[in-house]
Amino acid sequence: MGRVFNFSAGPAMLPEEVLKTAAAEMLDYNGSGMSVMEMSHRSATFKGIIETAEQDIRDLMSIPDNYRVLFLQGGATQQFAAIPMNLMRNKVADYIVSGNWSKKAFKEAKLYGTANLVASSEDENFTRVPDFDSAAFSPDADYVYICQNETVYGTRYTHLPETGDIPLVSDVSSMFLSEPVDVSKYGLIYGGVQKNVGPAGVVIVIVRDDLIREDVLPFTPTIMRYKTQADAGSLSNTPPAYGIYVCGLVFKWLKEQGGLEAMQKRNQEKAALLYDYLDQSKLFSGTAQKEFRSLMNVPFVTGDADLDAKFIAEAKARGLESLKGHRSVGGMRASIYNAMPREGVEALVAFMEEFEKNNA
Ligand SMILES: *Cc1c(COP(=O)(O)O)cnc(C)c1O
Repeated sequence: MGRVFNFSAGPAMLPEEVLKTAAAEMLDYNGSGMSVMEMSHRSATFKGIIETAEQDIRDLMSIPDNYRVLFLQGGATQQFAAIPMNLMRNKVADYIVSGNWSKKAFKEAKLYGTANLVASSEDENFTRVPDFDSAAFSPDADYVYICQNETVYGTRYTHLPETGDIPLVSDVSSMFLSEPVDVSKYGLIYGGVQKNVGPAGVVIVIVRDDLIREDVLPFTPTIMRYKTQADAGSLSNTPPAYGIYVCGLVFKWLKEQGGLEAMQKRNQEKAALLYDYLDQSKLFSGTAQKEFRSLMNVPFVTGDADLDAKFIAEAKARGLESLKGHRSVGGMRASIYNAMPREGVEALVAFMEEFEKNNA
């Protein structure tokens, strides 16, 4: 059996070209006689890798000069703590809760200060992003927090909150580099890379200069201070070196694909294939409200748990893997990140059509 179409929410598919390059460079990276895994992170060769990776993500996202790019460990979840520890100067932050991940981040922030729940869509089962009133943000808030694409419920923001002078903090883990972004609208953008950018073990934090400060909450571990890592170029301690290298290969791949505008167009087309089918299907239905549908994570159900299980098993036998939905939604979820080729989505839709006919 060859490679499957892997619809996992994360870790998820990586571009085949990237995996081939990594494989070819495994034993001898660029004449160094060793793999990137075996190399000192203080070597000139690794310095070249991390600096090129940073320049490439800067190019892709047009990151302004007054933002720093940090390649860190601890996953997105560690940032649930690092963000309040580093940014809570007044010990107040406003959270919009649109699903699983922002709910967890909100809960974590309460350990460090006053975290206000300014809007939540939990009463609608997180089938949408809640309405929010920009006038309701706390005047003394250190930041307003959102999770811009909710991986579990398959929703995304259609517009950003207007936060004025209050920095906007966004978890973009499951939509990182899937479309163009205006970085200047945010104080901090971050994401675990294992959804859309690279292998697990790296989280990328893009943070505005003025938010990298000495006066963090006093108990903030040295290693979790943005200043520590910004001053050291993400090399304060041993970084997730191999993961950063693979992220760098993905950045090169994205540039070759035409950058984020081209990715957005492809992602819109792939998502449309699936949503158009769902909208006319008599068997399957999407669970997220239409206006808020994610281009990356598409949850859907038949309404019958046994039929869902049958679908997932038969799909797997066809090389359509990891379609089981998250336990809080049930049913199925197709994650169709950057590296999922259009042919993967076409194969999924073709199988759904066939399954619908056979199970009418
Ligand atoms: C997966 C995910 C996380 C958690 O990522 P870890 O790297 O496992 O900590 C956080 N936020 C979002 C939106 C996610 O999809």
